[in-house]
Amino acid sequence: MSWFEYRNQVLCAESVSLAHIAKEVGTPLYCYSTAALKANYEEFVDAFRDRDVLIAYSVKANANQAVIATLSACGAGADVVSGGELQRALAAGVPGSRIVFSGVGKTFEELNYAINKKIFLINAESKSEIIEIEKIAKSKKRIIDIGIRLNPNTDAKTINQISTGKKEDKFGLTEKTFIELVKYAKNSKYVNLKCLSVHIGSQIVNNLPYEKMLKVIDRVIKKSNHKFEFVDLGGGIGIAYHNKTKKLNYKKYSISISKFLKNHNSKIIFEPGRSIIGDTGILISKIIYIKKTKSKDFIILDSAMNDLMRPALYGSNHKIIPVIKKGGSSKKTYEFVGPICESTDKFLTSKNFQKLKEKDLIIICDVGAYGMSLSSNYNVRPNPIEILIKGSKINIIKKRQKLIDLI
Ligand code: PLP
Repeated sequence: MSWFEYRNQVLCAESVSLAHIAKEVGTPLYCYSTAALKANYEEFVDAFRDRDVLIAYSVKANANQAVIATLSACGAGADVVSGGELQRALAAGVPGSRIVFSGVGKTFEELNYAINKKIFLINAESKSEIIEIEKIAKSKKRIIDIGIRLNPNTDAKTINQISTGKKEDKFGLTEKTFIELVKYAKNSKYVNLKCLSVHIGSQIVNNLPYEKMLKVIDRVIKKSNHKFEFVDLGGGIGIAYHNKTKKLNYKKYSISISKFLKNHNSKIIFEPGRSIIGDTGILISKIIYIKKTKSKDFIILDSAMNDLMRPALYGSNHKIIPVIKKGGSSKKTYEFVGPICESTDKFLTSKNFQKLKEKDLIIICDVGAYGMSLSSNYNVRPNPIEILIKGSKINIIKKRQKLIDLI
């Protein structure tokens, strides 16, 4: 949270007071820092710069046009998983030559669109998908570059809902099917197999799963007897949501990749999402009511699970802090909740919080990734406004949705 700092007891994003922003544009509001976004991207580039890499920002983490455009201007490509994300990436200025299309269920229309746009790579996840690509390629008299996604049966040691690389997960292909499909693709007149791709899960903070994954890839490539020009390692790099959790050690990961590359002369693709955008965004909310009960005080916010789904969906905890820090020793335990008619509409229980009153502003931290992108209109609640700060400039990057648009 270094781009979000208290100055004279007021939390600021870069050089703008968040109390000021909330007054200007209302709440709830998502606010991102350009400096943080660029710093995260540069940190990633730096960590892996001693080899040939394509860093394809995973658009699903946050698909705001301004976010994609900012990263594209820094040199990032895009990892997309739908025709919609692909259109957004292109509209934000990402060149097709830096776009990777992932996902288990790409439709004929989506594949056709991607092929028309001559994107860099389509990572296929089944024989049926490859056959669909071949049909389109044949009709256009072209040869399409593809990757095939391996399911390395590696436990990412993250929460179950965001694990994608175990054999029971729907993603990728088992070693046996992968090798069969390599043979199939090598004999095809319409596809050029240039990549092996994997993605084992998200919010990975321990290096061991990546080390295991690289060992599996090493073995499978040797078995497949195919020279892959690219190896796409996916994303999944975790961030420190709390002081207790550490983020992934980039240096260690980079060393493991170097070891792997001693046996394989491939270029590396990364598809990071959370590690680039996660800690660059916050959600500012206002307290509607404080409801005191015998056992606890509920802080009822004007943001809810439709604005930030992660706590309800995965039980994830996001730190909550006040916009204005108050002195004094009076501390309380609060349960921060939204106004939605679901008991899962709960963000956090926080002990030793400064005493709050109705209409106070609070911040839900580290919501840049899978915050707005997972939002919905449940309970017919319009989506929040999104702001991107750059120094002292406040840029509205998405207007607050109007109720009239939903009716
Ligand atoms: N690549 C693929 C194929 C994914 O499915 C995901 C996330 O689900 C990502 C990349 C991005 O993951 P993360 O945001 O954890 O880096």
